[in-house]
Amino acid sequence: MAVSDHVDLPTFLAGVRKRNPGQPEFVQAVQEVAEDVFDYIADKAVYHEYQILRRIAEPDRVVSFRVCWEDDRGNIRLQRGWRVQNNNAIGPYKGGIRFHASVTESVLKFLAFEQTFKNALTGLPMGGAKGGANFNPKGKSDHEIMRFCQSFMTELYRHVGADVDVPAGDIGVGPREIGYMFGQYKRITNSFTGVLTGKGVEYGGSPIRTEATGYGVAYFLADMFRTRGWDLDGKVAAVSGAGNVALHAAEKLTQLGARVVTLSDSTGFVHDRKGLDAEKLAWLKEHKAGKRASLAGYVAAFPDAEFCPDRRPWGVECDVAVPCATQNELGGDDARELLRNGCVAVVEGANMPCTLEAVHLFKEAGILYAPGKAANAGGVAVSGLEISQNATRRPWTPQQVEDELVKIMARIHDQCAEHGERFGTGRIDYVRGANIAGFKRVADAMLAFGVV
Ligand code: NDP
Repeated sequence: MAVSDHVDLPTFLAGVRKRNPGQPEFVQAVQEVAEDVFDYIADKAVYHEYQILRRIAEPDRVVSFRVCWEDDRGNIRLQRGWRVQNNNAIGPYKGGIRFHASVTESVLKFLAFEQTFKNALTGLPMGGAKGGANFNPKGKSDHEIMRFCQSFMTELYRHVGADVDVPAGDIGVGPREIGYMFGQYKRITNSFTGVLTGKGVEYGGSPIRTEATGYGVAYFLADMFRTRGWDLDGKVAAVSGAGNVALHAAEKLTQLGARVVTLSDSTGFVHDRKGLDAEKLAWLKEHKAGKRASLAGYVAAFPDAEFCPDRRPWGVECDVAVPCATQNELGGDDARELLRNGCVAVVEGANMPCTLEAVHLFKEAGILYAPGKAANAGGVAVSGLEISQNATRRPWTPQQVEDELVKIMARIHDQCAEHGERFGTGRIDYVRGANIAGFKRVADAMLAFGVV
């Protein structure tokens, strides 16, 4: 191989920016990984020679398609759908489907890229992908959601399959949407296979899949705390989001002894100084299911709490911050405020919720900081277990799945510790650890295949 293949980091990033114009989220995600990986491969010529990182940062394919559907008033509506299949070096493509007005090709490319490393960290055989549509499910009737999901799958079915690509849910796609899409796939192909995960348990879904991402986040935080000899008992947690990840992270954090004092959504945040409990969480799950009503309604049910419209919760005093809503929801100013208020740990439930500036501030401050690709991998890990259950046609019990989830999160934590230990400081750089451990697994498989 030519020596000229050894480019430096700035040249590599300039190339990424040039090849992906107008895709800031994707460039941000690649930069975050490249900063660590370039350092790691500095003395490992083979990864340079085979241009492994450049190949991982170029999706295997990006499929985009038209999604036509009819609303309840008989109007024809048009959306754009995508599936980004980033890399299948270690297993069939795997990654969620997002329905949100903000979905673009850049967002899905960043998510598919991140998913590649996250899936590798789980130790299960899953490549990285992501898909979705710029469809806003809010305010749509159940029948409109069903027609949209059916139309989306009518095109997507050509590109997925139990051994090819196995999508799951993400923002705007929960059990209801998965059910509609699975029904349409089954109808078109006349086959009952594990083509989607996050299915209802009555038709092949895994117990604990709904809870897995949020539960895994809480377990990961507990593992991080253990490295410092701390536990979660009585610790104050600020959580953002009020969807699948946020509510289940809040639930498990509460069970592990923490006091969760905030949740947020697209209308603002709730501050409940007394902390959430099982009754409040049950109310929230009901309130948010289906119609995704605003959190503003929380104070009518629990008058001690306060609702802060159009704001995020990062100004609230807390020991740990757990961003679980969406990308770039915690910026530099938020990070500075959290640090000023004595926050000692930030664990990402969402994908890339912290901006690069915020991440750098957390690292400089030396607090515990876990990137989403490690901390929120519990969801895809249990999806991997759902694939195993579907393949063997033997469902597991909830306890079996949760026990396995705890072990997988601990294994991910240990890989981060192994590759992210900052020598001489006794501190773990979880971003570096996750990036290197994930990269190494995918890269070594790619080397085995040669230039393909
Ligand atoms: P949901 O759709 O269930 O919930 C998302 C929550 O975030 C909602 O409360 C929503 O508010 C809020 N939100 C979304 N966009 C914004 C925004 N721009 N500003 C403020 N609030 C916003 O999604 P999930 O909980 O499934 O996903 C949350 C994050 O976790 C995403 O980054 C996703 O990629 C990631 N993730 C999810 C996994 C899963 O298993 N579901 C697995 C791994 C990662 P509202 O209620 O008003 O709509």
